[in-house]
Amino acid sequence: RAKQDGRNSFRFFAQEMQEHSLRSLQLSAALKDALINDQFHLVYQPQLNLTDNTIVGAEALLRWDHPEWGAISPAEFIPLAEQNGLIVKIGEWVLQQVARQQKQWLSKDLPEIIVAINISALQFHQQNLVERISKIVEEAGVSPDNIEIELTEAVALKDPEVAGKTIDALSQQGFKVSIDDFGTGYSSMSYLKRFAVHKLKIDQSFIKDIVTDIDDQAIVTAIIQMAHSLHKTTIAEGVETQEQIEFLKLKGCEEIQGYWYSRPLVTEQFEAFLLASNSKTTKIN
Ligand code: C2E
Ligand code: MG
Ligand code: MG
Ligand code: MG
Repeated sequence: RAKQDGRNSFRFFAQEMQEHSLRSLQLSAALKDALINDQFHLVYQPQLNLTDNTIVGAEALLRWDHPEWGAISPAEFIPLAEQNGLIVKIGEWVLQQVARQQKQWLSKDLPEIIVAINISALQFHQQNLVERISKIVEEAGVSPDNIEIELTEAVALKDPEVAGKTIDALSQQGFKVSIDDFGTGYSSMSYLKRFAVHKLKIDQSFIKDIVTDIDDQAIVTAIIQMAHSLHKTTIAEGVETQEQIEFLKLKGCEEIQGYWYSRPLVTEQFEAFLLASNSKTTKIN
């Protein structure tokens, strides 16, 4: 009986694996046409400055709507795009969209904000990254000052010597650089003192139970203190409650991003949000 169960669960497992890789193959192939078929769009998640309750920026997040399969999560398709190499083109498209959008917002007299984009490992480690992205921003007619580049620790540490030079060059050009999902990487922290990183984005896994979990409290407190000692700012990701904000404020965390302040918004919604926050009528506590 046990033997039979074992065999059944193996068969089930094998079948699941096959379905999983079939879907991966299909998605991977479909990604090739997603750009030309206009299936991508960006959403913008506002970021709040806790010291003066103003909007400081937004993170641009990629969305893929497939005509047959519907919305596909970036958590699923970004790794596939990384594997098949399409992420380089997609990443450049994201930056171009963001830069053009910023230009448009400026011409509409909307408040100037920093927009963060996510750069994956393959894109970050390509030749001439700095020239390529500088050119995209320049062509759109906006300043690198308003663009933030998010890298994960894994990306930054893949080849620390090269990464350090790239980060410094980006910073020289005027771009802001932040470390995404900070604390989850398998990391040595010595790069933090050497690289021109401006901001640490504290991963949402530490924020989730921060009101009750003393281990998470200790980790977040240590990250904020270390960041400040190194003259960097912090932003907490995945903030969903007022209680979490109270704790973060107490510890001196400067900024938050999360559903409490706003979910990621499509362009029109985001513009309305920007206008409303500019008139200072947003949730203030
Ligand atoms: P990330 O860069 O760490 O982005 C934050 C993720 O947390 C987003 O998920 C966002 O929607 C979600 N989030 C924000 N606030 C909350 C909250 O209060 N609670 C919870 N539970 N979640 C919250 P999303 O949009 O599904 O993106 C997932 C990941 O996909 C991103 O993580 C990023 O690593 C990757 N990604 C998204 N867009 C791009 C892109 O344009 N390029 C690259 N290379 N990666 C991207
Ligand atoms: Mg990010
Ligand atoms: Mg993150
Ligand atoms: Mg993430």
